[in-house]
Amino acid sequence: MDLYTKEYAVEQDAKDLLQHFRTRFINPTAELIYLDGNSLGMLPADTAGHMNQVITDEWGTGLIRSWNTGWYERSQQLAAQLAPLVGAQPGEVMIADSTSVNLFKLAYAALQHQQGRYGIVSDQLNFPSDIYVLQGLVELLGNRHRLTLAQAEDGMSVTMDELDKHLSGDTALLTLSHVVFKSAFMYDMKAVTARAHEKGAMVLWDLSHAAGAVPVHLNESHADLAIGCTYKYLNGGPGAPAFLYVRKDLQEKLKSPIQGWFGQENPFDFNLKYRPAAGINRFLAGTPPMLSVSALEPALKLMNDAGIQNLRKKSVLQTNYLISLVEEYLMPHGFTLSSPKDENQRGSHVSIRHPEAYRICKALIDPLTGNKVVIPDFREPDNIRLGIAPLYNTFLDIYEAVQEIKLIVEQELFIKFPPTRESVT
Ligand SMILES: *Cc1c(COP(=O)(O)O)cnc(C)c1O
Repeated sequence: MDLYTKEYAVEQDAKDLLQHFRTRFINPTAELIYLDGNSLGMLPADTAGHMNQVITDEWGTGLIRSWNTGWYERSQQLAAQLAPLVGAQPGEVMIADSTSVNLFKLAYAALQHQQGRYGIVSDQLNFPSDIYVLQGLVELLGNRHRLTLAQAEDGMSVTMDELDKHLSGDTALLTLSHVVFKSAFMYDMKAVTARAHEKGAMVLWDLSHAAGAVPVHLNESHADLAIGCTYKYLNGGPGAPAFLYVRKDLQEKLKSPIQGWFGQENPFDFNLKYRPAAGINRFLAGTPPMLSVSALEPALKLMNDAGIQNLRKKSVLQTNYLISLVEEYLMPHGFTLSSPKDENQRGSHVSIRHPEAYRICKALIDPLTGNKVVIPDFREPDNIRLGIAPLYNTFLDIYEAVQEIKLIVEQELFIKFPPTRESVT
């Protein structure tokens, strides 16, 4: 069967053992192709009913009593369901706060632990929010630390040699995104962690574009710390609370800079002296957003039902397929690939570049342009990110999205859109 035909896509979907998971999501219309699950995952079909029950029964009827009939332990229970997705033990992961706040808490804890070391290393591909938080920490700690960023010579990936140039006996903390947000380049977590540990540095991984997209091996890699989002591939909903990971043997050695009552040994003693809770609870700050936390339950169930290994297998098939179609149909129209070709160095999204990327994205999303609505996202200056969420994306989605992009560029249908940026791209 010819790889470049629509029939091939249909045949691949028929063979897909995970195809029925698509029906466990709300698909707004058959005319929509959603390739942005790496920014905001789709709505699981069970979530609305589940939330109605949580709101009506637990809040409406149970009121304050619900803290004793499930709410108080819920963040930790759901974190235990997330733990296998990132290769950690229950008790090493907690649902809390936002990714940025968790980075602040854990990076601060690491820098306090690494007395006498002043180097902080990240890379220029990291998510800007992560860099901002680190810059703020340097200031907060009296400008004694030095933040350096490893460079991406090819614009999409960072080599071990380049990291080596930045790591030294003075490095306190290395913090990187496991899968980087723009190019989807994926670090070898085990090798990088080992190299940093040789220098005595601690390692903090941001798993925002990895959790639910690729199997993550925190324990096996002997990673120290990690953080990540739950509203991307994990489908927890807009602004869903994030997660954090602290390796078991480090928990008693580290302290959160935000000493709130939920991280206290016994919050309901109302004791005026702060003593950190034992274990992972010490990294909580205040009352968890219980409605948003609860929305994670159906979402994590879907992930665990499908199995992260199965999802990865499908994702690799789909991203490889997408890259083949990009080469065949889009490269002749001025597109280039800005994600690694090697699947072992790539997460579950694929970025392509074009000088008119922004306006092409507008045309893809506009219902009156072309045949289908395709939702990817645009990242400055000229990247179109095509996120593949194997729980719900089909091979046909990929085929049709590529045809739609080709049509828009071939017929210059993007020309009517202004190049001025909207506030959220
Ligand atoms: C999406 C993302 C974030 C988001 O942080 P929030 O605090 O949840 O807004 C952080 N880091 C990375 C690498 C991301 O991809």
